[in-house]
Amino acid sequence: MKNNKEYDVIIAGSGLAGLFAALNLPESYKILIVTKDTADLSDSFLAQGGICVQRDEDDYDSFMEDTLKAGHYENKREAVDVMIRESREVIQDLLTAGVEFDKNPSGDFAYTKEAAHSKPRILHARDTTGQEICSKLTLRVRERSNIEIMEGSRVVDILISSGRCWGVVVRRPGQPPENMLCSDVILATGGVGGLYPRSTNYPHLTGDALAIALRHGIRVKDMSFVQVHPTSLYTEKPGRAFLISEAVRGEGAILLDKKGNRFVDELLPRDQVTEAIYAQMEKDQMPYVMLCLAGHTEADIPVRFPGIYQRCLQEGYDISKECIPVVPAQHYFMGGIDVDLFSRTSLDHLYAVGETSCNGVHGRNRLASNSLLESLVFSKRAALDIQKHSREEIHPEFPKPDSAYYDKIEEENRDLVSKEIRKEPNHAE
Ligand SMILES: Cc1cc2nc3c(=O)[nH]c(=O)nc-3n(C[C@H](O)[C@H](O)[C@H](O)COP(=O)(O)OP(=O)(O)OC[C@H]3O[C@@H](n4cnc5c(N)ncnc54)[C@H](O)[C@@H]3O)c2cc1C
Repeated sequence: MKNNKEYDVIIAGSGLAGLFAALNLPESYKILIVTKDTADLSDSFLAQGGICVQRDEDDYDSFMEDTLKAGHYENKREAVDVMIRESREVIQDLLTAGVEFDKNPSGDFAYTKEAAHSKPRILHARDTTGQEICSKLTLRVRERSNIEIMEGSRVVDILISSGRCWGVVVRRPGQPPENMLCSDVILATGGVGGLYPRSTNYPHLTGDALAIALRHGIRVKDMSFVQVHPTSLYTEKPGRAFLISEAVRGEGAILLDKKGNRFVDELLPRDQVTEAIYAQMEKDQMPYVMLCLAGHTEADIPVRFPGIYQRCLQEGYDISKECIPVVPAQHYFMGGIDVDLFSRTSLDHLYAVGETSCNGVHGRNRLASNSLLESLVFSKRAALDIQKHSREEIHPEFPKPDSAYYDKIEEENRDLVSKEIRKEPNHAE
């Protein structure tokens, strides 16, 4: 017996990678985006600093070298090449979708610089770049009658038969798990910050697609490559760590020890600044170091960093006048489901994009503001690759999913992914 298919493509996740994949599929395709919380609750919306772009032909070598150097030369060079060469095209796509980046008084884009970049090549919308990009893309998605967004629901498994993927198992609130069939699946479930006590990520990002991959023997890669961001606002309150973007150091902020002395070059790659901060905290026997922007920048702080300024005010600090305590926090996952340059996983008709995938762009350590760009370039590539093959009309039959089984594996997933990530020591705890 055969089932009729329900969708052409099902996408797990409504972050930048999921949204952009959906928008790059034809309007004749029936698309479902399943997302664990509300559509806007993704790390993509939180992005502050900006998005890299190759500014001109001359910038290629230096962009390549900055990315490779930050990644300890463990990056996949072909993937970095693709990301850089396609960067201008995807930025143009964003502009066409209505995204607005900051401009200087002469009307040109106001490029900024972040740590480990040898020149300014980062487009930004004040310090709320992710919100600007994702809110516009979400609007475009909602305008498309062929795309359905299912909020508050999670993909808990994929359906496999005859060596290929045929759909997903979804859990909607208060309902038993159900099979949803399609021709192609795109996993875009983001990072793993929810597995850490101190992270800049949303807590519901728990590497769910990684758990699915591990259970089905789908190839994963670089699972111990976890990035710790050097500067999150220190607080004793529980909850998501608030990021103080690298762009703050890019605009001049310095780091000070408890005696008020500088102890590191603030513009080194993230992992090196993090190491230096941990060492200084140990030496000073302090749970934080200080970050000082006031007096070290020409920028009008409340205008250039409105999000950070306001949040720090709520916590009792005026960054336009005083230093703030900062501490490293888990931030980004460079490893993930192993994919090729078209975001194809080791299972036919299963794609992975964004932070949940590993195409090798970032190597051992991601260069600041490369992640939004990488998500755009490789989710578009997945969408274009999907259009190269035909859509299935008839699917094999799959048994009705068993609630008790999924209760059990969902409980075990955190441990499964955590163990894999923590096989080698890193600084993310
Ligand atoms: C505070 C912060 C600031 C950042 N600043 C920058 C920056 O300036 N520049 C830059 O390049 N990068 C930045 N990053 C990194 C960047 O935002 C992310 O790496 C990138 O946006 C990841 O996009 P994504 O679509 O892969 O994942 P996300 O945007 O995290 O989206 C994941 C989606 O998957 C959904 N999901 C999870 N599990 C399931 C499931 N089981 N079923 C269905 N849906 C599921 C989630 O609800 C969410 O919608 C920042 C990250 C943070 C946390």
